[in-house]
Amino acid sequence: MNEQMQASEESILHTYNRFPVVFERGEGCYLYDTEGLKYLDFAAGIAVNALGYHYPGYDEALKAQVDKLTHISNLYYNVPMTEAGEKLVRASGMSKAFFTNSGTEAIEGALKAARKYAYTKNGNADCHEIIAMNHSFHGRSMGALSVTGTAHYREPFEPLIGGVKFADFNDLDSVKALVNEKTCAILTEVVQGEGGIYPADPEFLKGLRELCDEKDILLIFDEIQCGMGRTGEYFAWQGYGVKPDIMTCAKALGSGVPVGAFVLGEKAAAMSLTPGDHGTTYGGNPFVCAAVSKVFDIFEQDHILEHVRELIPYLEQKLDELVEKYDCVAERRGKGFMQGLVITGRPVGEIVTKALEEGLLVISAGKDVLRMVPPLVIKKEQIDEMIDILGDCLEA
Ligand SMILES: *Cc1c(COP(=O)(O)O)cnc(C)c1O
Repeated sequence: MNEQMQASEESILHTYNRFPVVFERGEGCYLYDTEGLKYLDFAAGIAVNALGYHYPGYDEALKAQVDKLTHISNLYYNVPMTEAGEKLVRASGMSKAFFTNSGTEAIEGALKAARKYAYTKNGNADCHEIIAMNHSFHGRSMGALSVTGTAHYREPFEPLIGGVKFADFNDLDSVKALVNEKTCAILTEVVQGEGGIYPADPEFLKGLRELCDEKDILLIFDEIQCGMGRTGEYFAWQGYGVKPDIMTCAKALGSGVPVGAFVLGEKAAAMSLTPGDHGTTYGGNPFVCAAVSKVFDIFEQDHILEHVRELIPYLEQKLDELVEKYDCVAERRGKGFMQGLVITGRPVGEIVTKALEEGLLVISAGKDVLRMVPPLVIKKEQIDEMIDILGDCLEA
């Protein structure tokens, strides 16, 4: 442990087992630590840095906004929030956005919107139950934790919010078995991330949509990790043709600034949150929204989605070759630039650590999955470089 790490341990609460590296700067899809060592980044700050580091025009847009105005509160209008809102609503084809400071906070808002919808409809709070999925991840606050489908995350903090039931992801019957007259919403990731990179089956999402329509229940998709281009669509659900009533996003939305949003479809927007129901002091501030707005502009101008779509088959093919070649790689799962390799016979953490030592950032997911969520702007050569380094680590 070097001096900086020691200093950090002294003042920062120990809630993470951090890797022994201190990063100083990034450039493109590479990071540099304080020792000057270079790393290829297939983690992107956990699916956040969609444009890598110092993407042309991004820093300039942030700096220009700093010179104008960074914070004003939600008591007033501001131009970047309007622009970011317009672009988010256009990209999703949904109706109204509320900007938050994180993904967790977007989930909180989505849950409140769902409950308020049922309350408005029924005139009472009887219909308040939420069905979430096993192995899901939605955040660490009390509300978001309540709908996170990993018991050991929840247990020390119980009692959490009531009325949450867990079904099995990709098992429509298990959802149907839990639906009753008290159900107000069904919540799921479209590709489960933290839980181990499980893409939804098309029939599952279609079935959820039909079920929700039939019972007038709101369908909430958590697009925090899988959204913003990672699957080759702005939002993963667009690739399935199944539209939610509420969507949450964050992570790559600002590509490096702390911003999230929950976005309501017409029905939810018309009948849920009204003035006084919800708020945030920082949420939607001009600084983070200038980033969101610029990210959408860059996606459009530089055809980021097309770039991702073009490279997906190559990334998948190269990863499939690893599955073929190494006994410890049992399977590849994923969608687009959100990929997981299932590791057997040795701890996944060992490979992640080894990769770091060899100059490659990857992360784990679930108990045995090696996760890759690279910047969306990676090139073919960087896929090759990743495969080379990872191959060495799997060999060893
Ligand atoms: C990261 C994540 C969250 C939580 O977002 P934060 O910004 O860390 O609060 C929620 N849902 C999913 C699917 C995530 O990947």
